[in-house]
Amino acid sequence: MPFTETIVAIATPAGRGGIAVVRLSGPEALPIALRLVRLQRDAESHRVRFGHVLDADGQVLDDALLTYFAGPHSYTGEDVVEISTHGAPVVVQTVVQLSLRAGAQLAHAGEFTERAFLNGRLDLTQAEAVRDLIDSSTVAQARLAAEQLGGSLQREVRPVKDALVMLVAVMEAGIDFAEDDLETMPSAEVETRIAALLPPLESLLRSFAHGRLLREGLRLAIVGRPNAGKSSLFNRLLERDRAIVTPIAGTTRDVISDRGAIGGLPVELLDTAGLRETDDVIERIGVERSHEAMADADLLLHVMDASAVGSGEAAELPGAVGEGAAVIRVWNKADLVAREERTAQAGAVWTSAVTGEGMEALRDEILRRAGLRGTGEGGAASHATLTNTRQRDSIARSIEALQRAVDAARMQTPHEMVLLDLYEALGALDALTGQTTADDVLNQIFSTFCIGK
Ligand code: GDP
Ligand code: ZN
Repeated sequence: MPFTETIVAIATPAGRGGIAVVRLSGPEALPIALRLVRLQRDAESHRVRFGHVLDADGQVLDDALLTYFAGPHSYTGEDVVEISTHGAPVVVQTVVQLSLRAGAQLAHAGEFTERAFLNGRLDLTQAEAVRDLIDSSTVAQARLAAEQLGGSLQREVRPVKDALVMLVAVMEAGIDFAEDDLETMPSAEVETRIAALLPPLESLLRSFAHGRLLREGLRLAIVGRPNAGKSSLFNRLLERDRAIVTPIAGTTRDVISDRGAIGGLPVELLDTAGLRETDDVIERIGVERSHEAMADADLLLHVMDASAVGSGEAAELPGAVGEGAAVIRVWNKADLVAREERTAQAGAVWTSAVTGEGMEALRDEILRRAGLRGTGEGGAASHATLTNTRQRDSIARSIEALQRAVDAARMQTPHEMVLLDLYEALGALDALTGQTTADDVLNQIFSTFCIGK
């Protein structure tokens, strides 16, 4: 469905910069652009042309580079023009104003990508990946978004969908031609065929936890007795001096949190107050908050003072830590203990926040426990990953419908009934890629984009 309106927006961040790009898309993109940019040579698709931006009076305002992408071989699938100027806000505003005067409309957030989707240039998972790529703050996030933009999710789902469509077609035919003695597929075979569709979808569903980790990061809480070196380790892990370190027990009276990255994985690190019983009111509030932070964390670093390794008390896990919690035991202040006295303990890491010893091993252990290391070749990152709850819900709905269909086939339910569940499973997979997505859902998705994308 071709759009008749031509849209315009600034594609680069607001404010001053070396260059700025204004982007136009729609049937009038080139004629409008040529009214405000005078070129020295004719525009040609996929070529950059040098020229000048003219103001309303035809005076030269700035140099400009104009790039023309003739539809359908463009981002949106329509004629697209990008005008690069120097990044002075007044020049950029003028280009937009003159485009509007020449008949363009201001693009709303995500409208370029929305058009790309509606014109069939991207599926919905790819469109979401565009936003994720722009929003990504670590290399791992960017890589994940780029894979999805490249169609990784679509490629994983496609074979399942094709097999499902084939099965539905065969079953429908069996029903239609039953009177003509055409053999209907035995229920046992229907059951087997449906069951075979489940594992790839279930594996995708499991990938969501991993995708969430890359998007939202790992919540890592540092707990342990006062003076064990929690704040020092916190600073070491983030490679900066955020938490206050003092030799006086109880210095960290509240939960300090900060964001950083460990091996490309975003982490929210929580440095908690020492977990000792106390009568000091302020310190007690800190201890309470520590307990809350521990309850929320994905992983706990239990920091213990290695110089007190023999005392027994040092290794006590704070009472608030649940049995099932994922904990890495860290013997800190290893520099105070002779090597031969450091007993090898399963799941424990020896570190020194002072000398930096053991920090790499600790980072590795964190990544391993987060499921990003040691799970075969490259962990879960090697195949497609669900990155948001919309995608997860589509896959989950599909799995539930297929499971119902398997049960129905096992109980020899008439094929008409089994088909209802299969159609629902198919619908959920269509919704994933956006083939059958309601307009309000689409609006909601694209409105989370920035203007100019
Ligand atoms: P927290 O109360 O657990 O947060 O402990 P801090 O990080 O505030 O450290 C308490 C004291 O131990 C400070 O004097 C630190 O300099 C010292 N400290 C921390 N880590 C180490 C370490 O690995 N080796 C040695 N020798 N001292 C450390
Ligand atoms: Zn501290």
